[in-house]
Amino acid sequence: MKEVFYSQGENHYHLDPDLKAILRTFAPGLPEEELSAFGKLVGEEVLEVAYHVDQEAPPRLKMHDLDGNRIDRALLSPAQKALLEKLRPMVRPPYEGRGWPLHYALGYLLADGGLYCILTITHQVAYALHKYAPEWEGVKRELLYGQAFGATWMTEIQGGSDLGANRTLARREGEAFRLFGGDKYFASGAGLADWAIVTARPEGAPPGPKGLALFLLPREVEGRLNFRVRRFKEKLATRAVPSGEVELEGSLAYPIGRLEEGIYYTLENLTVSRLANAVAAMGLAKKAHLEVLFRVRRRTAFGKKLMEHDLVQHDLLEMRLRQVGGTALAFLAVQAFDRAWEERPPYTERYHLARLLSHLAKGRTAEHAAAVTQGAMELFGGLGFLEEYGVARWHREALITPIWEGPANIQALDMLEAIHKKRAHEPFLELLMAHPEARAQAEGALRRLAEEGPWYAKEALRRLADAAALYALARVEAEPFPTLARLYARRFLEGEALPPSRLHDPWA
Ligand SMILES: Cc1cc2nc3c(=O)[nH]c(=O)nc-3n(C[C@H](O)[C@H](O)[C@H](O)COP(=O)(O)OP(=O)(O)OC[C@H]3O[C@@H](n4cnc5c(N)ncnc54)[C@H](O)[C@@H]3O)c2cc1C
Repeated sequence: MKEVFYSQGENHYHLDPDLKAILRTFAPGLPEEELSAFGKLVGEEVLEVAYHVDQEAPPRLKMHDLDGNRIDRALLSPAQKALLEKLRPMVRPPYEGRGWPLHYALGYLLADGGLYCILTITHQVAYALHKYAPEWEGVKRELLYGQAFGATWMTEIQGGSDLGANRTLARREGEAFRLFGGDKYFASGAGLADWAIVTARPEGAPPGPKGLALFLLPREVEGRLNFRVRRFKEKLATRAVPSGEVELEGSLAYPIGRLEEGIYYTLENLTVSRLANAVAAMGLAKKAHLEVLFRVRRRTAFGKKLMEHDLVQHDLLEMRLRQVGGTALAFLAVQAFDRAWEERPPYTERYHLARLLSHLAKGRTAEHAAAVTQGAMELFGGLGFLEEYGVARWHREALITPIWEGPANIQALDMLEAIHKKRAHEPFLELLMAHPEARAQAEGALRRLAEEGPWYAKEALRRLADAAALYALARVEAEPFPTLARLYARRFLEGEALPPSRLHDPWA
């Protein structure tokens, strides 16, 4: 497969000294051997299988069995099925007392939107059961240790951002409920998931998001399909995960925790996937960056290697800054979540800080990922535009990161809510106390946000995220991070052009 990716067959953990330095700061003591073995698996099998699935073997919807019964099953390539079982252990660490940073570090290394999505939605169901429905311990174990898959279906045809517009109605039937009128319009894991968590409004509950409860929905009840999959979407990327349209009509579902707290559980669950999105976005950026680092050493133009041209070095430096800044920000957010995740509603300041950082990380890493992957295509020249090689796919994959799990505007509005209603900016400013410039930048953005409100919210998110990234980069003691922090501030907070620098090559 070297003919598709330069990084094929390489250990993706060992190729990434910047990641190692960031993890040593925000997640000290992670098991090196495990990360290294995973980096090897990614370079060898994951790249090959994910490319094959994307180009030649995306999941197909099988609607009937030989006897004509509706089965609505996703058929996966056998290579994808086998790989998923090798990857499944990566979702276990948080539930085994080994913390979230290891899980997210593995997610960064995997960085395949489709495969990581399948694993994330699977353990998101386990997360909800672990925290709020311990009576489903058996299902949780099937998801983490068995062969079951999970899914998280909230978005309906009339809206994803506006969750409160959900129309699925839940009617009580003994201890359980029946769901009616549900059109879950972007249902990843459709046809694959054995158990999904879904939002629905119990009869008599108030309108809007506060009236939504969270339910556990089995794929089958007494051997019969419990819901229908209308079709799979044709997607630009993340093709390894089937995303379909699911119809809920009389579907049996079990309440998770307290009905009236459903929206809190849903938002918590979203925090888990937003962090996954952030680390995967930066992992994707790194995959593209790696290809470029190989390429510029090999390709010659105007009598010298691309790597030796000033403007290429400038592009490479900008790429590295975006990638390390986003990665440091993402793992700062992961660290905060790791300290707060066991809290339940009503949460403390610690949880609100983690939530604020998750919005900053989700929003900003998506922008950095798109910029880095686009830059990588450009540095490959014409080859970067071809589906025949790996680089174009990294850009396609990066383009989902600002959309799902709440588009950029929604991250900005949720951030605003965390600031206004939960005063999450207070512990945030306290955190930045150690870095006066980062704190001053954050204070400036908050002042303008107070004056201009939602109009300024997306720009505020960017600036607060960059202030947090500066703080995070400056915390990494290893060389050359202090200089990278300064350059990041100059480029993204002060809006200055980058000065000539030799730091364009992380392998130097
Ligand atoms: C590949 C893929 C897989 C997905 N998988 C799942 C899944 O498994 N489960 C699931 O529940 N969902 C899933 N989704 C849905 C996804 O989460 C939604 O598409 C996303 O949340 C946006 O919702 P929407 O598409 O309805 O867009 P809309 O909500 O219609 O938003 C459209 C635009 O309007 C903006 N906007 C909306 N409201 C406001 C506002 N108040 N102020 C300013 N701007 C606003 C948004 O930022 C966005 O740019 C998936 C989507 C894709 C593409």
